[in-house]
Amino acid sequence: MTDLQAIVEEIHASLSPRCGEGKVADYIPQLAHVDPQKFGMAVVTVDGETHLAGDADEAFSIQSISKVFTLTLALGKHGEGIWKRVGREPSGSAFNSIVQLEQEAGIPRNPFINAGAIAITDLVLAGHTPKEAIGEVVRFLRYLADEEDIIVDQAVARSEQATGFRNFALANFMRSFGKLDHAAELVLGVYFHQCALAMSCRQLARAGLFLANSGTNPLTGHRVVSHLRARRINALMLTCGHYDGSGDFAYRVGLPGKSGVGGGILAVAPGKASVAVWSPGLNENGNSLLGSLALEMLATRTGWSVFGA
Ligand code: GLN
Repeated sequence: MTDLQAIVEEIHASLSPRCGEGKVADYIPQLAHVDPQKFGMAVVTVDGETHLAGDADEAFSIQSISKVFTLTLALGKHGEGIWKRVGREPSGSAFNSIVQLEQEAGIPRNPFINAGAIAITDLVLAGHTPKEAIGEVVRFLRYLADEEDIIVDQAVARSEQATGFRNFALANFMRSFGKLDHAAELVLGVYFHQCALAMSCRQLARAGLFLANSGTNPLTGHRVVSHLRARRINALMLTCGHYDGSGDFAYRVGLPGKSGVGGGILAVAPGKASVAVWSPGLNENGNSLLGSLALEMLATRTGWSVFGA
């Protein structure tokens, strides 16, 4: 057993008694059915070692973590032109906030709040039918994780489609400013499916590994993005990946990270490892409560931080 395996197991064991703390997201009815006791951790190092603890092999709804991957796809498709449609500033607002959209003429603050992610999905949809675009996103995740066993949970997608009124409002609001190329129904058809991707901590950590290794997946040798682009995606994750909790996450964990309301967090330790944690109970900002604590402990124990050793 390497030291890192021991660290991951210790963190998992010490936080396990607190499983069930926080609040499971229920505004998407299907997510409310998740067992709040679930808790998984996966650390995949750039040297190819994998360290797991708890429910690391159980698939969960990645929700907003998908926004990292659609951003990567949109950048690949449209390059830096995407910044005409979305900003790069932390919002300081809730993930589903609409307030800034009116002040900023339909341009969302960043690609990780819902409005910004919907604008990015609109760009991924360019030249495709919604079905093709969903297929592209799923294939991209399979390619990144190097695993075929990644699917969309259709029950979660349908559940959000039926209740995602706020997202329809955000999309239609942007469209009213001419800042969305496709009808809200089409863009959100893709968006709800990308959010409903079901992946395990292990798969997610593998999928994010290219961001820890200057754009190249060290397991497959695939160059996914350039060095510069990987750095920039990490910068956005650090500044905007946890909504109005991004500053606190940077302070406590010090690593680029992206959370989802399914209770997952993907964190990137550049040059070291990609880490995925999952615990469904959320804190007041809609980020995994135990997941954030686990990452804070991991960063402390390993010394991993983008701010210095
Ligand atoms: N699908 C969710 C939504 O649009 C994603 C939100 C999240 O994970 N923060 O509300």
